[in-house]
Amino acid sequence: MATTFDVIVIGAGPAGYHAAIRCAQSELKTAIVDQWINKQGESAHGGTCLNVGCIPSKSLLDASHKFADARDNYAALGIQVQGIEMDVPAMIKKKDEVVSNLTRGLASLLSGNSVTSFAGSAQLQGNREVQVRAQDQTTQTIRADNIIIATGSVPIELSVCPLTDGLIIDSTGALDASSVPGSLGVIGAGIIGLELGSVWRRLGAEVVILEALEEFLPLADAQIAKEAARQFKKQGLDIRLGARVTGTKITGKGKQRKVVVTWSDGTAQQKEYKKTFDKVIIAVGRRPYTEGLLAADAGLTLDEQGCIPVNEYCATAVPGIYAIGDVVRGPMLAHKGMEEGLMVAERIAGHQPLVNYDTVPSVIYTHPELAWVGKTEQELKAAQVNYVVGNFPMSASGRALASNDAVGLIKVIADAETDRLLGVHMLGTHTSEMIAEAVIAMEFGASAEDLGLTMFAHPSLSEGLHEAALAVSGHAIHVANQRRKAKRH
Ligand code: FAD
Ligand code: NAD
Repeated sequence: MATTFDVIVIGAGPAGYHAAIRCAQSELKTAIVDQWINKQGESAHGGTCLNVGCIPSKSLLDASHKFADARDNYAALGIQVQGIEMDVPAMIKKKDEVVSNLTRGLASLLSGNSVTSFAGSAQLQGNREVQVRAQDQTTQTIRADNIIIATGSVPIELSVCPLTDGLIIDSTGALDASSVPGSLGVIGAGIIGLELGSVWRRLGAEVVILEALEEFLPLADAQIAKEAARQFKKQGLDIRLGARVTGTKITGKGKQRKVVVTWSDGTAQQKEYKKTFDKVIIAVGRRPYTEGLLAADAGLTLDEQGCIPVNEYCATAVPGIYAIGDVVRGPMLAHKGMEEGLMVAERIAGHQPLVNYDTVPSVIYTHPELAWVGKTEQELKAAQVNYVVGNFPMSASGRALASNDAVGLIKVIADAETDRLLGVHMLGTHTSEMIAEAVIAMEFGASAEDLGLTMFAHPSLSEGLHEAALAVSGHAIHVANQRRKAKRH
């Protein structure tokens, strides 16, 4: 006889654990199943995000930024630092401690909310049953009227560059390197390629990033992407666009082993290139993960991308079965999955919330950080929307100058007729924090004038958002000639 719950959540990543906790808060008897085994060989909650994604990557990004800042920029502030060195194993140990504290904390949070945890692989059967297979291969069946699938995603592999122990690695391997490679090849100039490429560049590696597309960061606003590319080049990230990787070969023996990567460019001549690296990171995207999840009678099929098809409320074609997070359509971002988890839990509890997919923020945690919400200029042009742009360069921000970190810009795009905010795009220090101000404004349907009429603390980096909003109507105080910068289309 199967143990019965009101809700079973499959996957304890950010999407799944948010759903489970909110279900439990609504007095629903909730179970969560996860198969994650961490590098200590223990079951762990938190999914990709806590174990090998958002949190560990930010730990390395912050540590390497502090190191590079001290090495490169402190002298300008009068701070003399001699003999500065990076202890890579200590950096990795600290990252592992953060991960361990958070994943253990999450286990306590789930049990503290009376969520029952099962460690093992879940398979969805017909009749709303879930079979859980533990590591020792024993199985048990649990049942619920509502089942939420949150099985996440895994890195896409590249057949021409097969993962090779410690030499050709994916993002997970790149978070655990024990020393700085002399030369590092990164395949894919997307978010992971730029973030992890930055970590190892700051620590001294020669980093070459090979990107198949001719355009750099096509999802970001083109003006911001162009300026970001300029900043990354100054930092020594060698980004080659239009690079089609054709193969890899391992040369040498033992500690002398290296990876030779060959690629061709996008020209008609298909010019061939070859370079030898100490390590190569594959960062060409992630794919939804559903291996072993669906029994033949589960009643669900996958779409062409391998996602579980859902409607705007994350309901699947089978009543009572929902899917959220990376395993469904939309951006593969932790916060998008978290909001979907909360929405589904609330809907199961009888409420009617929605996720506003128009205000999902995106952040790339390089230095400077890229952060944006809403439409880009190129999207608005393609949709033939009339809009006005207000720009504010961070080189005019008193706070940014005072902290010797005045790179980037803030760009506000408003509807030319209604002045309603259509998009906000930022490049600069701490823009991952500042973008929340724009998200809130857009969530409340604000106009550029509303932002302009709002008081911002002085001196703060956020004043750049205020000024960019004022620049939409030509009223920014600290930028001259802004009328030229406020474009009307
Ligand atoms: P996941 O976090 O992938 O969790 C899915 C869980 O389901 C896993 O624990 C898995 O073990 C479990 N599971 C799968 N199948 C089964 C099964 N059959 N039975 C039982 N359990 C199962 N996003 C951001 O928003 N910000 C960032 O800064 C960021 N940085 C990232 C950095 C890196 C290096 C990577 C790789 C990703 C990053 N992401 C970031 C993306 C983010 O990690 C994902 O979008 C997020 O983790 C997706 O959450 P999820 O709950 O849908 O899935
Ligand atoms: P991505 O989609 O951001 O970038 C992959 C890049 O690889 C693309 O630019 C693509 O054109 C390129 N590419 C694909 N095939 C290639 C090939 N054969 N040769 C050369 N280039 C190739 O994917 P990612 O960087 O792997 O990240 C995966 C997901 O994880 C992202 O979708 C993102 O949502 C999430 N993530 C988010 C954050 C964050 O929010 N800060 C950080 C890391 C990861």
